[in-house]
Amino acid sequence: FFITFEGGEGAGKSTQIMQLAASLREQGHDVIITREPGGSSGAEAVRHVLLSGAAEPFGPAMEAILFAAARSDHVEQVIRPAIKRGAIVLCDRFMDSSRVYQGVTGNLDRDFMESLERVTVNGMVPDLTLILDIDPEEGLRRANARRGAEAPDRFEKEALATHRRRRKAFLEIAKAEPARCVVIDASMPADRVTTAIRRAVQHTMAQ
Ligand code: C5P
Repeated sequence: FFITFEGGEGAGKSTQIMQLAASLREQGHDVIITREPGGSSGAEAVRHVLLSGAAEPFGPAMEAILFAAARSDHVEQVIRPAIKRGAIVLCDRFMDSSRVYQGVTGNLDRDFMESLERVTVNGMVPDLTLILDIDPEEGLRRANARRGAEAPDRFEKEALATHRRRRKAFLEIAKAEPARCVVIDASMPADRVTTAIRRAVQHTMAQ
């Protein structure tokens, strides 16, 4: 099974991924945790560039192609081999983040984004996508608290309106693809979010 976690900043994706991995491993499953941008050595090198100030002059198309290049490497080097050997892959962000961050808030052409998605995902569409939904104000508060004295990355510094557009775009994807996507209210206490996620995962695995 290939399960992806999506949502805005500070939705609690990484904490929830750890919780889910622990419970699936307790049940005896082979589980790998990975993330985007990154997840393979080539893609981690691209992540380093994308999340640093070096990417500021890039422009949205160049940025989208770099995210796509990283995804292609990640899919072929890590995700597909793991799925082939029967592992459950939990991935922190995947193609929906590109649709939302590069496509919607990068104002890129839909056809261009769809072509990039097709060639990079290359059939490796998630069985389940958990969209951790939270009000961006609350999410950014959490992200700030977590980060402490560390400087925010270039995405966390963007305007609240941009974060709101992204939230809306994630919810639209969920509406358009209800067989793949489940929206989880990430403003609930963490243990209730964990329970809701487990329920959605069990449902998918029982199919
Ligand atoms: O998941 P996390 O918040 O750590 O992601 C790192 C950063 O990369 C985020 O700030 C996110 O906004 C950005 N990102 C992006 N486009 C993607 C994936 C992540 O802009 N396709």
